[in-house]
Formats: sequence, structure tokens, C-alpha cells
Amino acid sequence: LHRNQGEPEFHQAVREVLESLGRVVAKRPEYLDQALIERICEPERQIIFRVPWVDDKGQVQINRGFRVQFNSALGPYKGGIRFHPSVNIGIIKFLGFEQTFKNALTGMPIGGGKGGSDFDPRGRSDGEVMRFCQSFMTELHRHIGEYTDVPAGDIGVGGREIGFMFGQYKRLTNRYEAGVLTGKALFYGGSRARTEATGYGNTYFVQSMLETRNDSFEGKKVVVSGSGNVAIYSVEKVQSFGGTVIAVSDSSGYIVDKGGIDLGLLKQVKEVRRGRISEYVDLKGASHGTYFIKARDGSIWDVPCDVAMPSATQNELTGQDAKALIANKVMAVGEGANMPSTPEAVRLFQEAGVMFAPGKAANAGGVATSALEMQQNASRDSWTFEQTEARLAQIMRTIHDNCARTAEEYGAPGNYVLGANIAGFVTVAESMRALGVI
Ligand code: NDP
Repeated sequence: LHRNQGEPEFHQAVREVLESLGRVVAKRPEYLDQALIERICEPERQIIFRVPWVDDKGQVQINRGFRVQFNSALGPYKGGIRFHPSVNIGIIKFLGFEQTFKNALTGMPIGGGKGGSDFDPRGRSDGEVMRFCQSFMTELHRHIGEYTDVPAGDIGVGGREIGFMFGQYKRLTNRYEAGVLTGKALFYGGSRARTEATGYGNTYFVQSMLETRNDSFEGKKVVVSGSGNVAIYSVEKVQSFGGTVIAVSDSSGYIVDKGGIDLGLLKQVKEVRRGRISEYVDLKGASHGTYFIKARDGSIWDVPCDVAMPSATQNELTGQDAKALIANKVMAVGEGANMPSTPEAVRLFQEAGVMFAPGKAANAGGVATSALEMQQNASRDSWTFEQTEARLAQIMRTIHDNCARTAEEYGAPGNYVLGANIAGFVTVAESMRALGVI
């Protein structure tokens, strides 16, 4: 703790994993040797740097950049870059720690890392975003590479930002190293289905959970928080599985559309206009069944639903929200975001018998498809959408079954939190033991 002061999210993420490990070390005491658990909790490397850039008014702005290279026992560090004013070292460490186990769960040869900056892209012009990304990459390029560390997108970093960063990397290194970043656009080395992968993947995971109770999305009411990359493609897949998404949100509030969210309109507001979620109601017209509630006037989790898919940010779903969902008879929760449910919320769901899919398993489809993008780059190939999505679906099914089987093996059937933590930990731990004390 003394090394990680003032980092509550990192403590929260570590505590959750350590709480699952009692059952593992009881069976496998060798994991207590060689300070293995302490080493897993300590990042291999943390890089913090100044990011100076010039805004449209000609003023110099300074932000702080981060890259935490957490664990490379399984492969090159791999994990997204987040641009959001709330970013600090503790947030990036929690994300890098989670990423390490998530990546292990995918079964792909990738280690864990995460990066970002406290830069706020909202309200910034394309030119400002480009200059910021170029400055960010001017430092970051020294630390990454196809065989070293392969960043991707996260909150505030989508196709536009990845393009600017890739352009600057190429210019600084004079190398067309497609495999250095994932989430690229199709015409310069991106993978089909990467944009959709996290939202689709979470939907596949929840579908597998529902199947364990002989159920499906058909006819279910679903609430998805957020309205970014993960949220939009969760809406798309849930709808294709016969569910009805009735609410989505952003940091300003949430909208309800009782007849089902109009996906085309949502994409228009968020992907084309880069607007606020209330514009959905402005464009469609407010009515009894279509309305906007400001964030300070209520929580999206008060909207009654069968399935909840928190897909915005960490700790967005509190104990109070969980109580409201349980009172409204929610059956399943699939975390599209990283650690969106507070520990109290997770406990309440589990006590109430709600099927609960933790982010490190349920949202692993994004990074898994990033690894498929790396494969395509390495072989200079480009797969079809169908082929890539089929791989994604198969990977999500395998992760689900692995978590379910592990939970059962360790005496907690149905506990996907325990299953994911143990299955991820054992894979990383075995590899670290094989590599010696490093
Ligand atoms: P985006 O930037 O595309 O979207 C984020 C969404 O969440 C926006 O609607 C944003 O609203 C909302 N949001 C962000 N912060 C807050 C906040 N403090 N309170 C309320 N709403 C907030 O990001 P992604 O969709 O890519 O990421 C969402 C989550 O999924 C994150 O936890 C991320 O780590 C996780 N994830 C993403 C993956 C990916 O492939 N992209 C892979 C695995 C996990 P606003 O615009 O108002 O800020």
C-alpha cells in the first residue's frame, strides 16, 4: 500500500483479485513462493511524461501522459490509451492490472499495459486533437513497438486519434510498422470487426450466461450505459439477438426510448455529430415514451430492465443502483466497461442471484480482436468481417466456459468474478514461474 498511495481505483482492482486467490493458494501453495503475487501487483515499468501542444488560439497547453507497462509474461504489453480529464497514474495502473488478467483470459499471446492522458478531447477541434496526438506520440514512440508494447483505443480514443498517432509514429521512426497500434482504420491495416468487438463480445458473453438458464436476449428489455464505442455496438448486437435496448447515456444524463433505441439515430448523434445524448431526443421529438433525464436528476439504473450492460466508466454503478436494479428484477449484468460496478454493487448482485459478468471477462472481445488485428498485420493479410466475427464469437464462448468451469472447480459455481480472476491469474502465474524471478 505504501508504494501506491492516493490510488483508490488501483487498490480496489487489486483487492478484488486478491480476494479470489485464497482458494487458489489453498490448492496450489507454490504460488506463494518467490513473491509471485507481490510481483504480479507491481507494474514492470511506469512512464510519465509532459505533453505540450498549441491550441487553436495559439496558446501552449500542457497535459500529462502515462504508459504503464504492467506485465509482459505472456507477450508484448497490450492495452488501450484513454484521453479523459479524470486520468491519473492510479487509474492507469488499475486498468493495466485488469488488462493483464483479461488478456490472459483471451488465450492470445499478449501481456498487459495501459496508457493515457488527462487531455479532454471534448470541444476540441480536429486540428487540436491532431496536434495533441502528435505530441503524445513524440514521447510514447520510444517505448512501444510491434514486439514491445501495442497500444489501442479506450475512452476518448477512437479511429481518428489512432490515425493521428499512427501517422506520427510512422513519421518519427520511418517504419510502416502496422502492428504497433490496433484499432486502425481498414485502409491502413485495421481489422474488420474491431470497432464492433467489445460491444459484440459483451453481448455474446451475456448470451452464453443466459443460455446456462435456458434463456436468451429474445424479448428482453436491456439498459446500456454510455453511448461511446462499447455502448453503441452492444446496442447493435443486442437488437440483432432480439432484445430491446430502452436506455443509453453519457455524462450529461440518459435517454429513454421505450420502443427501442433507434440505432441509426444514435450513431448519427454520437459518431457523426459527436454530440450530446440529449440531441437524440431533440432530433426524434420528445414524447411520453422518448425523453431525456439530466444526470443530476436521476440514474439510468432506475429504468426497469431484464439485463443491464454498464458500458461507460469505472464505479458508475453503485450499491444504490444495484438495489434499484434488483428491486426491478434484473436477471443479468454484463460489464462492458472496466470495473463499472462498485464492490458493494457486485456483492449485492451475487447475493441476489443475479448473473454477473465481470468486465475483465465480458469486455475481453475488444482486445482479443486487437490480437487478431496483430495477426493479420504480421501475415500481411486481411480477413472478412464474417471470419473475424466468427473468431470473436468463439473466443467469447471459450472465455465464458473457462470462467464457469473454473468457478465450479474452485467450489463457487456461477461465480464468474471468481472464475475470471482465478483463470486469468493462473495463466499469468504459470508463465511468470516458468520465466524465473524477473
Ligand atoms: P468512449 O469514449 O467511446 O465512450 C465512453 C462513454 O462513456 C461516453 O458516452 C461517455 O460520455 C461516457 N462516460 C465516460 N466517462 C463518464 C463518466 N465519468 N460519467 C458518465 N459517463 C461517462 O469509450 P469506450 O466506449 O471505448 O469505453 C467505455 C468503457 O469500456 C471504458 O471503461 C473502457 O475502459 C471500456 N473498454 C473499452 C474497450 C474498447 O475496445 N473501446 C475495450 C474494453 C473495455 P461523455 O462523452 O459525456 O464523456
